[in-house]
Amino acid sequence: MNFITEGELYQNVLKTVAHAGNLININENALERLKYPRRAITVSVTLKGDDNKIRTYTGYRVQHNQTLGPFKGGLRFHQDVNISEVAALSALMTFKNSLLNLPLGGAKGGICIDPKTLSPGEMQRLTRSFTSEIGPFIGPDKDIPAPDVGTDSQTMAWMLDTYSSEFGFAQTGVVTGKPVEIGGSHGRDSATGLGVIFICEKALATKNKKMDEATIAIQGFGKVGMHAAIEAYKLNAKVVAVSDVSGGLYNEKGINIEELVKYTSENGGLIKGFTGCDSISNDDLLALDVDILAPCALDHAINSGNMETVRADIIVEGANGPVTSNATKYLHDKGVMIVPDILANGGGVVVSYFEWVQDIVWLFWSAEEVREKLKTIMYRSFDTVWEFSQDQNQDMRSSAMAVALKRLEKAMTLRGLAW
Ligand code: GLU
Repeated sequence: MNFITEGELYQNVLKTVAHAGNLININENALERLKYPRRAITVSVTLKGDDNKIRTYTGYRVQHNQTLGPFKGGLRFHQDVNISEVAALSALMTFKNSLLNLPLGGAKGGICIDPKTLSPGEMQRLTRSFTSEIGPFIGPDKDIPAPDVGTDSQTMAWMLDTYSSEFGFAQTGVVTGKPVEIGGSHGRDSATGLGVIFICEKALATKNKKMDEATIAIQGFGKVGMHAAIEAYKLNAKVVAVSDVSGGLYNEKGINIEELVKYTSENGGLIKGFTGCDSISNDDLLALDVDILAPCALDHAINSGNMETVRADIIVEGANGPVTSNATKYLHDKGVMIVPDILANGGGVVVSYFEWVQDIVWLFWSAEEVREKLKTIMYRSFDTVWEFSQDQNQDMRSSAMAVALKRLEKAMTLRGLAW
C-alpha cells in the first residue's frame, strides 16, 4: 500500500491519527486497521468525445473503513486527483462520519480530469462510463457516493440513472446530493456551507462574540464557500473578502453577497468583474486581519510557505485538508483556533445521511426540518470536540480526531475487530 499512503495529504492524516491515538491510548489493533484503506479500486474511464474519438481517463473509488456502516463519501473530478489523495480523503470521511456520530463508513472517489474541458454531453458520458466501472462496488447498502469538487447534483442524477438501468429497478439510495425531484433532500446543496457557518457561530461564542460582530474572509466561492457567504451575510456578519479561480474581492465594509451571487449566476459562476470592491490576490486574502478565515477551496492552501502571514483569530476548514500539519502546529502555538475539516465541513455528509434515510423510508422532510436537524448535529459535535480540547489542553484538530478514533475503537472492539 506504499504508493497509496505516500502522498502528502495521506501522511498529514496519519500524523494526526498517530498523535490523537496517543491521547486516548488507542488499542493498537484498531489503530493498525485504520491506517490503510480496505479497498482501492482503479478503473479506466473511457469517453467518446464530441470529436467521435475515444479518450481514456483514470478513475478511483477508495473504500477506507466500514466499521460504523456502509462506505460513504464524495466523488471529485479534478486534474490533480491521484490515488493517494483520494485515499487520504476516504480516511478523512471515516473519521468525519465517526465524529458526527453517523452510522456510515468512509470512502472517496474521483477521476483525474479537468471538467472545464468537457462539454455537457461529454460530462454525462464520462459520468455514466465511470458509474458502470465502479457499479459492482457501490449500492445503497454498500457504498454511497455524493458530490465533491467538480461534481454536483446533475452528476449524481446521471449516476443514479446509470446504476438503476443496469440494476433493473430504480435505486434512489445509491447516491446522495441528487436533485430533490428524484429523491434528493431539501437543503443538501447548501448543507456544507451552512454547516461551516453553524461552526463559525460556535467558535466565535468561545470568544464571546456573535456573527453580527464578526469579520470573515472566505477562500473559494463554489458549492461550499458561496453558501457559507450567503449564510454569513444573512446573519449580518461582515464578509470582507471572497476569492475564486478568477481572483479575489475585498471590501472593508462587507461585500453585498446577495448582489454577488446574482452577478456570478450571470457571469459563468465567476466573481471577476464584480464592482464596488477592491481586487486582491489569494495570498492577500489569506493574510487578512479578520475574526474568521474560512478556506473553502482545495487542500494545502495554508502551508509552511504562507503560514506566517496568517492574522485571523479563527480558521474554519470548509475544504478538506486546507491547513497542513506544519501550519496547524505553528498557528495553534500562536493562539489561532483551527476548526478542522472533519468537523467544520461535516454539514454536507450530515444532510447526505438525512437524504439516504429519507430515500429508505420514502418520506421527505421540509427544508426547515433539515436545517434544524443539521444544526443540532453540528452544535453537538462542536461541543464534544471543544470539551475534549479544554479537558486535555489540545488543539481542535487532535481533539476532533481523538473523539472520532474513540468511537471507531469502541465499535471495532464490539465487532471483534480489535482486542
Ligand atoms: N464530499 C463531501 C465531503 O467531503 C460530502 C460527502 C457525502 O455527502 O457523502 O464531506
